[in-house]
Amino acid sequence: MKFYVLTLFPDMIRDGFQTSITGRAMEKGLLSLETVNIRDFSVNNRGRVDDYPYGGGAGMVMQAEPVYRAWQSVVSGMEKRPRTLYMSPQGRVFNQQMAQEFSQEEEELILLCGHYEGMDERLIEEIVDEEVSIGDYVLTGGELPALVVMDAVSRLVDGVLHNEESAEYDSFHDGLLEYPQYSRPEEWHGKVVPPILLSGHHANVDRWRREQSLLRTMERRPELLERAQLTKEDKIFLQRK
Ligand code: SAM
Repeated sequence: MKFYVLTLFPDMIRDGFQTSITGRAMEKGLLSLETVNIRDFSVNNRGRVDDYPYGGGAGMVMQAEPVYRAWQSVVSGMEKRPRTLYMSPQGRVFNQQMAQEFSQEEEELILLCGHYEGMDERLIEEIVDEEVSIGDYVLTGGELPALVVMDAVSRLVDGVLHNEESAEYDSFHDGLLEYPQYSRPEEWHGKVVPPILLSGHHANVDRWRREQSLLRTMERRPELLERAQLTKEDKIFLQRK
């Protein structure tokens, strides 16, 4: 999977992505990152890429032309234009299903990060395939949202996670929250690990984990249960609670 990120702060993207699991996957050639500094495509001699909004009002707006030129520098000469995502609080709210969709359907993605009051609307109409939000709050720029999307997509790319880090049981993978996890020691601050996890009985451990997943989801995010794939056994368990 290759990510192209159009941004005013390429260091922020590189520093964030080159760390830990995604950094290791880049070294292995499973992921790759190209950042494009929008400021390099400024169309005035002061290196500015923003201007006052027509109609007045607070803040500055990123101008269409520098962003368009930065985007052209990526797509020109490409046979198949990668999907262009604009990080925006007005977009479709990102979730695990979208991460799965992007990881399965795309080999390359272009992520566009806004700043100030956002982008000239005409630019969005011209180059953006989809606006993606990471939640109902407003951040100063699209860099953190881009890193969030890239991280969630990357860990679903084959080979990025080791077996022991598998995404198979993660929250949302099957529509439920994950069960609670414990590690050594067996007792800490007077709290003990649930005995079933020490029993060595794999089928019982699996059932206990499934039930914990169901309970957590019911308590914390009951709306998820409506869309989760539940077995007959799961439904009976939930009815008894
Ligand atoms: N004036 C814009 C609005 O009200 O919709 C918000 C602009 S915000 C201060 C600047 C940039 O941060 C946006 O262009 C976008 O790229 C990014 N951004 C802020 N919040 C975001 C969110 N929740 N999800 C995705 N991107 C976000």
